[in-house]
Amino acid sequence: MQLQDTPAEADFRRRLREWLGKTLPELPPPPDPSDWPGRRAFDTQWQRRLFDAGYAGIHWPVDAGGRGASPSEHLIFLEETEHAGAPYVGASFVGLLHAGPTIAAEGSPDQRARFLPPILRGDEIWCQGFSEPGAGSDLAALRTKAVRDGDSYVVSGSKIWTSHAEVADWCELLVRTDPDAPKHKGITWLAMNMDAPGVTVRPLRTLAGTTEFAELFLDEVRIPVANRVGEENDGWRVTMVTLSFERGTAFASEAVACRREVRELARVARAEGAWDDLELRRALAALSAEFAALWRLVQWNVSEASADGVPGAGGSVFKLRFSEARQRLYDLAARVVGADALVEGAWTAQRLQGLSYTIAAGTSQIQRNIVAQRILGLPKGR
Ligand SMILES: Cc1cc2nc3c(=O)[nH]c(=O)nc-3n(C[C@H](O)[C@H](O)[C@H](O)COP(=O)(O)OP(=O)(O)OC[C@H]3O[C@@H](n4cnc5c(N)ncnc54)[C@H](O)[C@@H]3O)c2cc1C
Repeated sequence: MQLQDTPAEADFRRRLREWLGKTLPELPPPPDPSDWPGRRAFDTQWQRRLFDAGYAGIHWPVDAGGRGASPSEHLIFLEETEHAGAPYVGASFVGLLHAGPTIAAEGSPDQRARFLPPILRGDEIWCQGFSEPGAGSDLAALRTKAVRDGDSYVVSGSKIWTSHAEVADWCELLVRTDPDAPKHKGITWLAMNMDAPGVTVRPLRTLAGTTEFAELFLDEVRIPVANRVGEENDGWRVTMVTLSFERGTAFASEAVACRREVRELARVARAEGAWDDLELRRALAALSAEFAALWRLVQWNVSEASADGVPGAGGSVFKLRFSEARQRLYDLAARVVGADALVEGAWTAQRLQGLSYTIAAGTSQIQRNIVAQRILGLPKGR
């Protein structure tokens, strides 16, 4: 992958920039973060505009309905949308960035035809039903069970921390289909309709004051066998594909956003008189360098995903360093803004939300274990 735009890429960048310049002023103001129906409407309208303009699923293969863009074009898309201040992917996160890519990589032709177009058009929102009260870091300890009954699985159990569940149409759900198999072997990946009888969603309020995620209670929910992605009991392998996308490429647009936020924080520091603090300037410079390095890592992961179909273990390096650097950014913001940052404002919301970054999508400790074992080849801890 080259790092300079070729003439064709420069043309792609110019057209995208023009389209963003014309389209963004037409968007309505973003909704209040606690207004979930409003957020769904806003995020799906944005996705629909991307779809209509041919930019939806920029990195998805053409036969999955995407644009089939090269890694360079994918990166240009991330840069340009962020620089233009385009809306965040929001409620489309799971569908567009890891459930959809998993179905594109592992789904049957029927599943690709059924599930992928509505994700790209912004018609259907997905959530992720992986974690359970006793199965977070140790995800394979999950107990939600599925019993085969004719053409259906009958699923009972509960899930927790299910982001976007309040507005989701579908859930990428992990279930235990063989209770007697070793724990990584008896798992199956299913697409569950959130409107199916027996699904109850109970929102959880976060520190930041919004109901970002929810508990799911599943009481004899019938899920067609046709909604199984991969083979029965082969769900752990499919899950690794999902998590590779989630850790390796799903946070790429935020990585660009953080580079802008560091510049913005430097501007605020100058305006607020904090710029004379040499230690603070050094911390800002270190963060700026770290986000530049992380952007290189995004380039690597995007390139690898394009070549191999899925990002590799480098995604865990990115997830680990990015989530920790982002927390440092918001801590620094609190220092710059001072006591006001503890009360209200965009930096405050980011800081409260930021506390979860080293937990969501797999904790830092687990990413360190993966890096140790899969990249450095160190022995597995007991
Ligand atoms: C904002 C947010 C959104 C989320 N969204 C979703 C979602 O949409 N869908 C979903 O399924 N889940 C979601 N999660 C759940 C998330 O994936 C889990 O919280 C995460 O995997 C950690 O699991 P746990 O909370 O059970 O903590 P635990 O696994 O109980 O971990 C507790 C502590 O022990 C450490 N630890 C555990 N095992 C080891 C080990 N072997 N070695 C070293 N340290 C270890 C952990 O690192 C952590 O510090 C979300 C979480 C957050 C915070």
